[in-house]
Amino acid sequence: MSSAPSESMKAATVPPAEHKYEFFKVVQDYLDRAAKVIDLEPWVASILSQPKNELIVHFPVRMDDGSVRLFKGYRIQHNNLLGPFKGGIRYHETVSLDDLKALAAMMTWKAALMRIPYGGGKGGIKFNPREVSRAELQRISRRFVHALGANIGPEYDIPAPDVGTNGQVMAWMTDTFMNTVGHINKQAVKGVVTGKPVASGGTLGREKATGQGLVHCITEWAKDTRFELEGATYTVQGFGNVGSHASVLLSKLGASCIAVGDHSGYLSNPEGFNAHKLQDHVAQKGSIAGYPGGKAITRDEFFRTKADLFLPCALENQVGEHEARLLDVKMVGEGANGPLNPLGEKILLDRGIAILPDVLANSGGVTVSYYEWVQNKRSESWTLEEVDEKLETTMKRAYREVVTFAQEKKVDLRVAAYAIALQRIAVVYREREIFP
Ligand code: NAD
Repeated sequence: MSSAPSESMKAATVPPAEHKYEFFKVVQDYLDRAAKVIDLEPWVASILSQPKNELIVHFPVRMDDGSVRLFKGYRIQHNNLLGPFKGGIRYHETVSLDDLKALAAMMTWKAALMRIPYGGGKGGIKFNPREVSRAELQRISRRFVHALGANIGPEYDIPAPDVGTNGQVMAWMTDTFMNTVGHINKQAVKGVVTGKPVASGGTLGREKATGQGLVHCITEWAKDTRFELEGATYTVQGFGNVGSHASVLLSKLGASCIAVGDHSGYLSNPEGFNAHKLQDHVAQKGSIAGYPGGKAITRDEFFRTKADLFLPCALENQVGEHEARLLDVKMVGEGANGPLNPLGEKILLDRGIAILPDVLANSGGVTVSYYEWVQNKRSESWTLEEVDEKLETTMKRAYREVVTFAQEKKVDLRVAAYAIALQRIAVVYREREIFP
């Protein structure tokens, strides 16, 4: 993990305060809008308006200096009608119950939209993973899984990576779970976590999956709007798993990244960054700071950069009124979850800027996580070509369904994506009704 950014750098990169922003309420409002479009029965809407379970655990971890630190971990299980709860684990200093409830609900919509037999969940720990050692990170991850105990499992609730976690963290989590179920069941529970490194039971293609899915949506949008990606420019906020892989894949299509930002600051390069080299730099140094090929710019200068596409791939609530007025792009592709707040979104739509919504655009991750889980169940290893082909078909089908629904019902793509997901869930509630 890299060292923390300096105080002056932090001040330059922290977004302006959006005091009224409540992510869960934002997601509920979209749910209400989509529910109206499809005439959803109020009893189904009311079940989906709250998570099924909200778990909070406190667990102690021995730190390197011998002290004991108590951590607060969360796991929100939103819905498991269509299959096990499924969703990432976030390590970040801003993790909150409200945000995780929003993110867990979005996982339910994503799985339904992608026709994957999962429900939705999300979890996390409120701390900055960059401020602990590797050994501490391992102990925190293992104790968290231990504290969650039987509240997760390959047929019940399946975590995956999100902000601040990666394949290594998933390997520790999987190993911890496998070692707590007894020798006989050990191999049978490998699918408890997805996003594992390939050698530890992961799948080829998972690491780039979210960025890859986003790029499939962008290429479909480009076809629809007769936009030429070769020679196009884009800016990307967040150069972690999603942002860096999307950039590498877009650069293969001939588009160039002319401005980039992360927690350490923002850089511009009108000639275009080498996405591969920047990805290597981040892998080694932990951030884009110190990358030789770019000029430091402010957050406002980043948002003001004229480009064809903007890819928010960092955190929620990054584009409010201020940023939406600065943006000078044709399309926003949401690699991150909830990067636009409602006012920011409204301004962009009023300005005629296309938005590829998170629930569709970043669903490549959960889709390939599902492929990993299926391979674990069957003791199979699929080739990269098989994974890539399946993901492409799934993303493009979902994209087409969302665009068609939006055109027919005259709604925006986000409401369309929510509505399609809700329809699929509602059918099952109607058939099964309520136990007992
Ligand atoms: P990551 O930890 O790999 O990368 C996060 C990036 O955001 C880093 O570059 C970090 O520096 C940057 N960042 C953090 N705080 C910032 C700030 N205040 N300003 C600017 N940049 C900041 O995480 P990731 O897995 O790439 O996830 C990014 C987004 O994509 C999140 O919204 C996540 O929920 C979403 N997402 C991830 C996946 C996945 O498979 N990893 C799947 C779907 C959606």
